[in-house]
Amino acid sequence: MLPIVALVGRPNVGKSTLFNRLLRKSRSITHDMPGVTRDRIYGECIMGETRFDLIDTGGMVLESEATPELSKDFEDEIFEQAQEAINEANAIIFVVDGKEGLTPLDRQAAEFVRRSGKPVLMLVNKVDGSEFEAQMTAEFHELGIEFLPVSAAHGYNLHEVRDRVRKYVRDLGLPEHEDDGVEKGLRLTMLGRPNAGKSSIINAVIGKDRLIVSDVAGTTRDSIDVTFEKQGKRYTFVDTAGVRKRANIQDHLEKISVIRALKNSKRSDVTIMTIDITLGVGRQDKRLIDFLAKEKTPFIVVVNKADLVPRNETKQALSLFEEALRVVPHVPVVMTSAHKGVGIGKLLPLAETLAQECATRVGTGELNRIMQAVVEKLQPPVVKRKRAKFYYVTQADEPIPTFVFFCNDHTLVRASYVRYLENQFRKMLGIKSAPVNIVFRSSH
Ligand code: GDP
Ligand code: GDP
Repeated sequence: MLPIVALVGRPNVGKSTLFNRLLRKSRSITHDMPGVTRDRIYGECIMGETRFDLIDTGGMVLESEATPELSKDFEDEIFEQAQEAINEANAIIFVVDGKEGLTPLDRQAAEFVRRSGKPVLMLVNKVDGSEFEAQMTAEFHELGIEFLPVSAAHGYNLHEVRDRVRKYVRDLGLPEHEDDGVEKGLRLTMLGRPNAGKSSIINAVIGKDRLIVSDVAGTTRDSIDVTFEKQGKRYTFVDTAGVRKRANIQDHLEKISVIRALKNSKRSDVTIMTIDITLGVGRQDKRLIDFLAKEKTPFIVVVNKADLVPRNETKQALSLFEEALRVVPHVPVVMTSAHKGVGIGKLLPLAETLAQECATRVGTGELNRIMQAVVEKLQPPVVKRKRAKFYYVTQADEPIPTFVFFCNDHTLVRASYVRYLENQFRKMLGIKSAPVNIVFRSSH
């Protein structure tokens, strides 16, 4: 067992954002922990020599914060999880929101955390610009817990957070975990409507009945992540409890599960969106696809249950799915039959390709040569009697290829020209299936 560090704090202070940041930099893996409860998310952090499990409690909802659309049961469950996480943890990262200021809930939570007697690192998050730092953090001194101002979104002070966490973990003096030499593989999230075949696909990929398919309620509730090895690599299906659970819950919880599934997509390397070929693209599917597109999530569309459609009709069926993917033409579509094992073997290699494309890093020199050639081939059109002028382009440190164009005035760049730039850059850099983000900064 690794030392456990729990992220706690009321909802919306930025715990998930922080979780993702801390995991991303340390290239994490999440592992199979049978018996672990419900909605807590575990990730293994490796920071230099130090390894520990980070838990995101998903939001500590205390009594006074009854969100009307949440059932009391659900709320109690989250609360219980936060408490369990604190009990289980060896150290705690307590997060508050510097933009919103100190709330009664923070006071309650601080008390809660203090009572645990465990080492606590308090973070005042959303301190995005240093000029307001003193102002934003002043009132938090009252809690009597030492804190760091941070911005999870912009990365401010996260170096320091890593150093401190590492020190906390080392000071715990727990036995070091041994590296078992298995290469870390990808983290995958399954998304899609109930009954599309997500569990069946997971089973087919893993090749044994690790998840029990169909409507035996509660069978997989206890296992959040399923980790398995294929070709010497360790892969993880993230939050498989969510995969099953969605089939059994009522409407209002359905919404929460979708939000949670989408959060999981952010935590994983590749998302696999599953659609039942016999049902086509429903409204919910379309919404999910649009959301994934908007969020620039690396994803694959799997059109499952191909065995139920006669061979000569599959082409036509597929063209319908491609229509739904018009906003994201780069997204790969794979036809599968979990029952017959068709197409299943393509999934992991495709996910690997996607992840490799996401990891593309290009030097500024090369990017600028490409930009010159591309702009020379087609000048940006004249808008309001002016033409956009690009000074240079750099790649931002983001999980997907993100190219920042510095220009005279970004309002002069039309959507069609953005598409042109994206397509050209894709072609030159060999990025076929991953999302690409083109961003403009004007300097007047
Ligand atoms: P959680 O409920 O505690 O897990 O919070 P989330 O990580 O989901 O974040 C809640 C909201 O705060 C999201 O809209 C985030 O984009 C935003 N957020 C998180 N960190 C920062 C930050 O450092 N600065 C700002 N301005 N917003 C942030
Ligand atoms: P989930 O709710 O998305 O996890 O879906 P399940 O994996 O539980 O599958 C729902 C139902 O569809 C089950 O009865 C499966 O046996 C069936 N199913 C899943 N994949 C296929 C497939 O490729 N072909 C056929 N014919 N049925 C499938």
